[in-house]
Amino acid sequence: MKKKIHLKEKIRRFHEWQQKPYVVAPLSEQEHECATCGTHYTGNFCPRCGQSQRIGRYSFKMALLNFLDVWGLGNRGMFRTIRDLLLRPGYMIRDYLSGMQMAYFPPFKLFFLLAALSILVTNGINIKGKNFNKEENEPEVQMEKTVDSATPETIPQYQDGETDLTNPEDIEVAEMEGKAFLNIRSIFDSFGRLVDRFPNLFSLLMLMFDSVFLYLFFRHCPHSPDLRFSELFVAMVYIADMYLILSTVLNFFCIRELSFFLLLLAIIPLKQLSGYSWWGTIWRALLAHLLLFVATLLIIAMVAVGVILCVQWFG
Ligand SMILES: [Zn+2]
Repeated sequence: MKKKIHLKEKIRRFHEWQQKPYVVAPLSEQEHECATCGTHYTGNFCPRCGQSQRIGRYSFKMALLNFLDVWGLGNRGMFRTIRDLLLRPGYMIRDYLSGMQMAYFPPFKLFFLLAALSILVTNGINIKGKNFNKEENEPEVQMEKTVDSATPETIPQYQDGETDLTNPEDIEVAEMEGKAFLNIRSIFDSFGRLVDRFPNLFSLLMLMFDSVFLYLFFRHCPHSPDLRFSELFVAMVYIADMYLILSTVLNFFCIRELSFFLLLLAIIPLKQLSGYSWWGTIWRALLAHLLLFVATLLIIAMVAVGVILCVQWFG
């Protein structure tokens, strides 16, 4: 019984810690002499050259931070941002959006860094040295080859058997259908190639598209009654960062089966950020994604219909 209360108290304290914004260390009252320019000052940074008062003898930690700085890492609380994205993502995003920008690593920069790291890990830097991309693409490449060998002449095979190909009118219709089919395929193929070439930009576009539908349901949420679309988009980028951190860890240990469940974890930051109940967050997110799915199907259908009409009108 005593142990149970202890655990409950721990959970309560953790929850309290989650909601409390980050507190910046107090301003140093001591007088310092800047090691770079010799200026005497009180505070944490030299007002003349900007050097931190904390810089003293060279330490291993400093060497590490200096090393990370080569890629623009190791500053502006990158480790704090990663920790908070794992332990209090929604509250961290709330604090960032409310203006605490110096406390956290910028969301887009983190996104591109994590995406680069994720590519390294899926390409073989993991405990098994496996290249996941190669494995997944190989069967696809084979399939593409067989479909690519389809030319307008071979296309009628794709039509149903009822078409009588001795009838010239039917041949014309079959050719037209084949042409439309090839055009639609080539449009989606070039789209696929574009996505392959700029995966990060495409992911950001998808996040923006996703944000449109989430915005419909979350813009008047209890914690931010007048949430802006741009704010929700930034929040989604941070949520994608959270996903990338976790999926990179899973990929590193080659436990990819769980990757799908990581997507469901996005509910946690959405709940913390919005202030809705669990159920209130879940049904809103589900409905938003149902709409997203329908909208995506509509866009694909519209492209297909557009191509068919073009082929019919212009041959
Ligand atoms: Zn100085």
